Amino acid sequence: MVAYAMIRAMLSAISLTTSVEDLHKHKIARLGPNLARKLAAAVAAHANKRHSTEATVEDLLTYLPMRYEDRSRLAKIKDLEAGIEASLELQVKHAGGYEVRNRQAFSKSRLFIFEVSGVDADNKTGRQVVVWWFISGRHAYDVIQFYTKKLSRGTRFITFGQWEWDNKRGTYSLRLHRPADELETLTTPELDQNIDSRDPEHVEANTSDPALAAIHVGRRVPVYRKLGDFNSKRVREIVHAVLSKLDDKDIVETLPAELRQKYRLVARPQALREIHFPPADESMVNYEQSRSRAHLRMIFEDFFWLAFAVALKRGERVRESKELKIRIDKTVKDVISAVLPFKLTTAQRKATAQIFNDMKSTTPMNRLLQGDVGSGKTIVALIAMIAAIENGYQAALMAPTEILAEQHARNIKRLLAKTPYRVELLTGSIRASEKRKLQAALKAGEINACIGTQALIQDAVSFANLGLAVIDEQHRFGVMQRAELRARGINPDVLVMTATPIPRSLAMTVYGDLDVSVIDELPPGRTPIETMVYGDDQRQEVKQLISREVKAGRQVYVVYPLVEESEKMDLRDATRRYEYLRDTVFPKLSVGLLHGKMKASEKEEVMKSFVTGEIKILVTTTVIEVGVDVPNASVMIVEHAERFGLSQLHQLRGRVGRGAEKSYCVLLTSDKKTMVARERLGIMSKTNNGFIIAEKDLELRGPGEILGTKQSGLPEFRIGNLVRDQSILEKARAAAEYYLTERSSSPQTKRMKQYLAANARFGLASVG
Ligand code: ADP
Ligand code: MG
Repeated sequence: MVAYAMIRAMLSAISLTTSVEDLHKHKIARLGPNLARKLAAAVAAHANKRHSTEATVEDLLTYLPMRYEDRSRLAKIKDLEAGIEASLELQVKHAGGYEVRNRQAFSKSRLFIFEVSGVDADNKTGRQVVVWWFISGRHAYDVIQFYTKKLSRGTRFITFGQWEWDNKRGTYSLRLHRPADELETLTTPELDQNIDSRDPEHVEANTSDPALAAIHVGRRVPVYRKLGDFNSKRVREIVHAVLSKLDDKDIVETLPAELRQKYRLVARPQALREIHFPPADESMVNYEQSRSRAHLRMIFEDFFWLAFAVALKRGERVRESKELKIRIDKTVKDVISAVLPFKLTTAQRKATAQIFNDMKSTTPMNRLLQGDVGSGKTIVALIAMIAAIENGYQAALMAPTEILAEQHARNIKRLLAKTPYRVELLTGSIRASEKRKLQAALKAGEINACIGTQALIQDAVSFANLGLAVIDEQHRFGVMQRAELRARGINPDVLVMTATPIPRSLAMTVYGDLDVSVIDELPPGRTPIETMVYGDDQRQEVKQLISREVKAGRQVYVVYPLVEESEKMDLRDATRRYEYLRDTVFPKLSVGLLHGKMKASEKEEVMKSFVTGEIKILVTTTVIEVGVDVPNASVMIVEHAERFGLSQLHQLRGRVGRGAEKSYCVLLTSDKKTMVARERLGIMSKTNNGFIIAEKDLELRGPGEILGTKQSGLPEFRIGNLVRDQSILEKARAAAEYYLTERSSSPQTKRMKQYLAANARFGLASVG
């Protein structure tokens, strides 16, 4: 009996590290083993973890509500006014779907409206309101059936949104956009999804369990986006149950008490609980704006650890010294001026001077060279490479795509033709025997400059004396890869380049370990690119533009989006379009096709023909997104422009406007309607400034895409929002600096370092 009790006790204890897959052992809200596994998969995906087994209770608890509802104070129908946002608890009178007739002829798909009429749950007034939404698509009938059943007469439900006076219906109505998120039934849970029918535990659990019902009404509740198959209500139940079985003692406080006091941050257990279930004494307005005490604490924590990890790494690097001895003497300068094909811009000269200073110093260079597309970063990198080589070291240049690596190799070989240097290209598609020879030559120190792709950091590659590593388009690489390249050298100088400017506070936090140089002017003689957003009906004009430009001797890109999920279809589209352009539209012109799935030799062939001007129109995918430099190209046509992100569009546009001729960028879209697409395309036609575009991108899409943190292994901020929470970010950064400098030998700092070391999430960040 004692053993049994002990097992019971063990089973019921949940801590933050408990695996989500094991939650069913703890009798959590009708969760059986199957559902627990499904939940774990969804949580893992949200937390960017590879395996569902890695999903922990802590990950689950960082799945935050998208909004909150004060159900202790639900509105009544009599309170409604036009335009008001309110939650109502209603009772279904009637629900059903009908088809929308008289739609414009061009629309092929059928469209339905689902309509629910309801009265107040207590039905004291008898007044009715209508809640409705559109349904379309292949499964429209099933969806209609599902909701008709779910919302049978008498069913109580809570719904939220902006109510309008509806003339046609003669009452207030509410249009839902995501009914799964915006409407929650209270009394027919047996129809809820996610009930594990094979799980006997759930069958036992009575679905009208009053304890469960009390979680959802008569109080302030969190509303979640669907998490995998789990709707808001299920997530709420599960989170509630988990929180109630979690002991405050098992929620480790990660921030020192004095720091919490200084910044008035509530304790971690309180924050974790309150961020899900708002207490009665906090203002709901604060919750809506993510400014509740729970939010402030969690956001601070989120930023603090990243800032701490980055600052820690930076501190260590200063103490390392490099073995390289680099001098920038007359010989070096003479070689450089013999190689330079043009006069450097002032900004390029400034950046070069900063790089030389770093190279001469006794600590390794770790510099980010930031400059808009076409600002001329490559030549600055080449100058640094020459300096390293003249001092007897090897230099490496890594690019994210083969096409770009080949272009760099071609140009650099040409520019360095007069020098005795051996320049080689190393990419994944080079024949194995050839590769082995190159690797041997690298190891023997016979190659001076090696240009390549990720192949440069494969295990078999080692350098005799790598002194400088340059990484082009660094946002395409991860922090890990940077570290790998660094590890190939005797602590070499590292120069990373990017055309994606990032706001300063952000750069400082994420790349706090990098010094920054900026090239803020374009080489002389460029004419601004004219950008146009066209609909499908304007294809004739596009054709005329292409004909005119080709006749004038220019070249054209036509770019198709390539999305992983629909890659095959996208490629087919691009290929068909290529054939159509070649055979039907421009039969007299040479049209080429280039995409990532082609063999390397074919790709090289096509790219060469485009560079020499033989191919006039290049139909391609995003393989040419970054870096490609063919100054004679003056027209960039982007098909399905709405499917690209802002920074991507900016990069694509940067492929033209590289010569003295006026250039054009046409963003084609059949979808001028959706808000985000319209906003994005509008910004593109208004500005050529990469900095403004990056800031907008940050606002529209969040930092993950911009910083490339998705690939980089940097932790995503789970709660903090870099745009909304800049002032908290500043504070967190200052606090991290303080503990690592003034308080560096305090027991608090020591404990923080231990926490960081034990936490895999930050382990990656500290590779810098
Ligand atoms: P990015 O910064 O986008 O990598 P590149 O290094 O590819 O830009 O340079 C863009 C184009 O500008 C190239 O054709 C390059 O030769 C040219 N260029 C770079 N610097 C200068 C300069 N100072 N004067 C004239 N042309 C330049
Ligand atoms: Mg470039």
